[in-house]
Amino acid sequence: MTTSFHPPERCLMGPGPSDVNPRILEALSRPTIGHLDPAFIAMMDEVKSLLQYAFQTRNELTIPVSAPGSAGMETVFVNLLEPGDKVVICANGVFGGRMKENAERCGAVAVMVEDEWGATVDLDKVEQTLTENPDAKALAFVHAETSTGARSDAESLAALAAKFGCLVIVDAVTSLGGIELKVDDWGIDAIYSGTQKCLSCVPGLSPVSFSERAVEAIKARKSKVQSWFLDLNLVMGYWGAEAKRSYHHTAPVNSLYALHESLVILKEEGLEDAWARHALNHQAFAAGIEKLGLSFVVAEEYRLPQLNAVGFPDGVSDAAVRAALLEEFNLEIGAGLGALAGKVWRIGLMGYASNQTNVLNCLTALGAVLADQGMDCDAAAAVAAARAVYAGN
Ligand SMILES: *Cc1c(COP(=O)(O)O)cnc(C)c1O
Repeated sequence: MTTSFHPPERCLMGPGPSDVNPRILEALSRPTIGHLDPAFIAMMDEVKSLLQYAFQTRNELTIPVSAPGSAGMETVFVNLLEPGDKVVICANGVFGGRMKENAERCGAVAVMVEDEWGATVDLDKVEQTLTENPDAKALAFVHAETSTGARSDAESLAALAAKFGCLVIVDAVTSLGGIELKVDDWGIDAIYSGTQKCLSCVPGLSPVSFSERAVEAIKARKSKVQSWFLDLNLVMGYWGAEAKRSYHHTAPVNSLYALHESLVILKEEGLEDAWARHALNHQAFAAGIEKLGLSFVVAEEYRLPQLNAVGFPDGVSDAAVRAALLEEFNLEIGAGLGALAGKVWRIGLMGYASNQTNVLNCLTALGAVLADQGMDCDAAAAVAAARAVYAGN
């Protein structure tokens, strides 16, 4: 007979989902109430203002889409782009490529600015492309490219787009809560994120935020949004401030309790402190990784603290290492994607998982498993190097 499912307890240090704070799992298990219940609607308002804090924005249209990060991406593209619109898209990894897919399915023309996997988006190339395409409606880029561990300069890219009168579209799925992000100060018009990366919440929701300028562009559309479910004109009837909260779809009630709790936790810690914690744990981890004889794919100044793409030498079995970490240490790390498949591991230090214990345990486990692979690595020295960072040496 099939019985209840009890997952193993893992330590999640991959590209997401990250470890979920037990407080969030407890919130998830609270009683389900109706999604039009006044108590629920009061909580929805708190979720909106907590998201405004996380995004550092006053945008009224700041809500969680009831589906994962990919749906947030799709929400932004289907609402802002109409057939024939031109959008400049920066691609330096998997997710820039997905933006192109989305734009083209809206009937838009995607002009690509390509950079190497592992590199940051090149500002000069973007400027040149915007100069050559004065009719572009929007500039789209990924702030934190989870496939490579590279950070792009969102503030400068947004400033460039403003110079050319373009809307600014940002993928912040992995950046929100992990590194500095200021939607209003930087002039971002449309942004989407995910719950399962640095917010350390359960997967399945996508916080989004739209500036007034973006809302005007949506209202000025000549054609209907091709997706009924993601059409913000309709969704706003449910989430909007002045709306009567009319039924659009059944909100994922318990998942929203979880998001609420994760945002309360973020606010308790404080955004700046959360960013600083991610930076410190990355520094300690990087010191240990280098002592193990492994290297980073991304140049130091562009590295994401929350996603470490670590290269390994030829002869090391990618699959065997990840399997041993999972089976013996209950530790999940991620494989490389696309151009980096079989060449790197993606080791996440996201949200609740970004802590000293995880850093030290991961270095110990990697050292042990790599020794089986014939690598001459000194796990004790790696742990010592990380501990020295925590000790402030
Ligand atoms: C994870 C991720 C997505 C997709 O989010 P899902 O929740 O998996 O749909 C999009 N962009 C980036 C940068 C991501 O890391």
